[in-house]
Amino acid sequence: MPENMEKEKPVNFIKNIIIDDVQSGKHTGIITRFPPEPNGYLHIGHAKSMCLNFGLAEEFKGRCNLRMDDTNPVKEEDEFVQSIANDVSWMGYTWGETIFYASDYFDKLYEYARILVTDGKAYVDDLSFDEIREYRGTLKEAGKESPFRNRGVEENLDLLERMKNGEFEEGSRVLRAKIDMASGNINMRDPVIYRILKTAHHRTGDVWYIYPMYDFAHSLSDAQEGVTHSLCTLEFEDHRPLYDWFIANLPVPSRPRQIEFARLNITHTVLSKRKLKRLVEENMVDGWDDPRMPTIAGLRRRGYVPAAIKKFCDMIGVSKADNLVDIAMLEFAIREELNKTAHRRMAVLNPVKLIIENYPIGREEHLDAVNNPEDESYGKRQIPFSGELWVEETDFMENPVKNFHRLAVGNEVRLVHAYYVTVTGFSKDPQTGRVTQIRASYDATTRGGWSSDGRKVKGTIHWVSAPHAADGIVYLYDHLFVPANPDAEKDKDFSELINSESRVIQTGVMLEPSLSQAEPSHAYQFLRNGYFRYDERYSVAQKKPVFLRTVGLKDSWKPEKQA
Ligand code: ATP
Ligand code: MG
Repeated sequence: MPENMEKEKPVNFIKNIIIDDVQSGKHTGIITRFPPEPNGYLHIGHAKSMCLNFGLAEEFKGRCNLRMDDTNPVKEEDEFVQSIANDVSWMGYTWGETIFYASDYFDKLYEYARILVTDGKAYVDDLSFDEIREYRGTLKEAGKESPFRNRGVEENLDLLERMKNGEFEEGSRVLRAKIDMASGNINMRDPVIYRILKTAHHRTGDVWYIYPMYDFAHSLSDAQEGVTHSLCTLEFEDHRPLYDWFIANLPVPSRPRQIEFARLNITHTVLSKRKLKRLVEENMVDGWDDPRMPTIAGLRRRGYVPAAIKKFCDMIGVSKADNLVDIAMLEFAIREELNKTAHRRMAVLNPVKLIIENYPIGREEHLDAVNNPEDESYGKRQIPFSGELWVEETDFMENPVKNFHRLAVGNEVRLVHAYYVTVTGFSKDPQTGRVTQIRASYDATTRGGWSSDGRKVKGTIHWVSAPHAADGIVYLYDHLFVPANPDAEKDKDFSELINSESRVIQTGVMLEPSLSQAEPSHAYQFLRNGYFRYDERYSVAQKKPVFLRTVGLKDSWKPEKQA
């Protein structure tokens, strides 16, 4: 076991179980698995599961299998398999030589089903799905036994074989485990383990006419792979007796233990694949990787990086209590990361002209600017300066309120990396009342933004030289859903809860010239405006550089608030 483990990574109840299992010698090495169903893209909830499964495997020098849980041919597609593999590797996780597929075990699972039948522990039932549901009983009432429950072994084996060969219609028969129709746990009331589905499978093609059900396939796939700790979300707690029953009643190569933890829910978003799929299919977003989506692909496109996602997972921890995590925590994690890594640049989102009247006409100069005050190795760049600049409209006030230290007539302000300027006047459009031009004079002795006489200014603003500026577009994002908990709004369809301002497209943005050759792999901090990422696809479509705001600069969440 690694030394000082507690210090490296937070402890949680699952990790404690593993520590005990390793210390007691129950296991010499651990194997976990991450088992997404390839029926959608991975999202931030899956990231929690990945961090846990791959994270524990890394920490204990074990292994985590990536297993596509592809037992339902109706909903699964290769596109999803590709995206899942891509997202897992992007997160920095490795899964050994191959990707596993539950469908790899279809032959083995069928063999196990025959063993259960032969042992009198499974039977073919001719009841319809509706009848099966009816016979199952309720929480208060025991179930009723199917009239087909006591078929003989030979008849069951024959019917199962013929189900497999496609001789029967979908829905006409199922294979059920013979457990206990009076069990207090409904999952134990003779659960269905195979159903007839005449749909081609993305990997096995049209070989199979029957497909195994989740509980049966999952436990036995785990056992097949020698998984030691099978970590899943809380809704499977009631399925654990069934998981254990399959393991106990079949000659499996290993005995995995299922442990449940609470799934991740985040404010102002949805994490159900069914809902995410609808957002995509009904064009409520631009696709699975729309930067507003909580998918890994969306987060990546928006400018999130694996380190921030992992940090977030460490922050939220792992427990058995259901909870709703404030999305501001995720934003905090990315902001912390980008503060260390982003290249600083200037961009004016709502430009208004600032004319420096005493700056020599036609002159330009190049001023030094640090690329990242947090890391000297990022070096410096030169930014052009002239007597005609763009500044933010919101940095000027005609009638300044108290403590307004930015541009107002008579105020002296620092233009970051450049000079001190004092506002001398402004012009307005008589029709709209909007300020169209601000005038100022500069102090030539303050080059670099510092005065030699020690005179201080209270306001510092960013700017872009107008003759040099590049014209660009920024996409400003906000939460995708208005309510904090969209899943809780039971009387409304979630599509009605979408935030109409979740994406604001701002054109006419004035960019520091170096941004016309932005690097897609870099994170940028536009001074005072937030963290941005250059987006190739939108840029091509818009024929101008497009930057997406990953997150703003201000925190609405602080670590102390957690306590
Ligand atoms: P669906 O919405 O289709 O039911 P699912 O949650 O079952 O999706 P899977 O693809 O089967 O999704 O999940 C793969 C793994 O990720 C499972 O082990 C599951 O428990 C875990 N997982 C999925 N969503 C979350 C979540 N919100 N928080 C934590 N773990 C999750
Ligand atoms: Mg699932």
